[in-house]
Amino acid sequence: MSDVKKLAEKLMALDDQMVACMKCGMCQAVCPVFAETMLEADVTRGKIALLEKLAHEMIKDPDEVNEKLNRCLLCGSCAANCPSGVKIMDIFIKARVIVTEYKGLSATKKLIFKGLLTRPKLFNLLTDISAKFQGPFASVADESAGTASCAMLNPLLGERHFMPLTKKPFRKDYPSMDTPRGVSGLKVAFFPGCVVDKMFPHVGHAAIKVLKHHGVGIFLPKGQACCGIPTLASGDQDSFIVLMKQNIKAFEDGNFDYLVTPCATCTATIKETWIKMIEDEDPIFIEKVQDLADKTMDITEFLIDVVGISVPDESKKGGKVVTYHDPCHLAKSLGVTAQPRALLKKNDKYEFKEMNEANRCCGCGGSFNLYHYDLSKSIGERKADNVRAVGAEVVTTSCPACMMQLGDMLSQSGGGIEVRHVLEIYADSIEK
Ligand code: SF4
Ligand code: SF4
Repeated sequence: MSDVKKLAEKLMALDDQMVACMKCGMCQAVCPVFAETMLEADVTRGKIALLEKLAHEMIKDPDEVNEKLNRCLLCGSCAANCPSGVKIMDIFIKARVIVTEYKGLSATKKLIFKGLLTRPKLFNLLTDISAKFQGPFASVADESAGTASCAMLNPLLGERHFMPLTKKPFRKDYPSMDTPRGVSGLKVAFFPGCVVDKMFPHVGHAAIKVLKHHGVGIFLPKGQACCGIPTLASGDQDSFIVLMKQNIKAFEDGNFDYLVTPCATCTATIKETWIKMIEDEDPIFIEKVQDLADKTMDITEFLIDVVGISVPDESKKGGKVVTYHDPCHLAKSLGVTAQPRALLKKNDKYEFKEMNEANRCCGCGGSFNLYHYDLSKSIGERKADNVRAVGAEVVTTSCPACMMQLGDMLSQSGGGIEVRHVLEIYADSIEK
């Protein structure tokens, strides 16, 4: 049997899900990539049609289908608005895995995922060393957004204004923690995520401050690894499972009620994606993954819905104008939108104003930003325009990946607007 035939057979496993698409085209109205290109192959309907044709051996060019499959932010806007309830994200992720098994991972991705990301100690060491020597390659671009730029690195980074690596990662201040339940009677496991650890440690500090303030015990184990989404989005299911196993091991000895993270992408991955990718694993492991998924929630959701922080109906008028960007993985995947806005209203030094299209994707999309920067940038510029149009002095969000993209877009378009995590604004309102 030819390799393409085997690939087609594997894709047929998704056929039941793909036939649910009635080709209505309603996904066109919400897809940020389609809005830029107007190409049918860039929207869900077109991608599903291509995958179906490959599965039914009506087309024989997997490379072309793969290229189209990867021109996608995995933002979930289409899935959230599909009238037929097509499991679009499951189809796209599983198709990426199947096609990657056929094509193989590129040498670069193999090195990054299998050589580094799945070896957290080595990964941390390398980022720590890079942080020490990044100085000449990271001149301040915009202090408000916290971005840097480097003309010398243009061939590698394009015109990006990037977030420099921190010299003191979150894990240096908090290598591990295990504190008892306080007045709340609650205890959480805390999963900061790679980007908070390496770029935004102050977000992790804000989380610890807030949890302590509310008398919540904290379990922060050593040995945490990446949630794995960069590997899975590139079709590397093996590395994804390796990382999942490292995390399950790190958290399994903790006695906690919830696992919370300040990263929307980590939350959605642990809560929804892990369990979908381990059908062939040992049942005991599957049970552990499901148990952790059931306990996982976004930290703002935990603070409002579980701790029960009371919030004013309106934010105070006359303060610094703050707005909020909905991360796709929080709003569209998990339906969490009210809780971060509620927390912002707790700080009376800020006046909250809703921007237009707050729940429209910022255009980051992880590796999409690396491979399709022009598209990522034009989607992001629309977000930056909306932030400026509402008169915001500060834009907040609940996902460090969105913070990177917002920082880049605002910094390149003139700067002067702070980019912060919702938790930081709330933490600032709490007495030390
Ligand atoms: S909205 Fe759903 S059913 Fe309609 S074309 Fe898109 S994926 Fe298919
Ligand atoms: S996940 Fe987002 S970018 Fe991808 S097809 Fe759906 S709406 Fe478009």
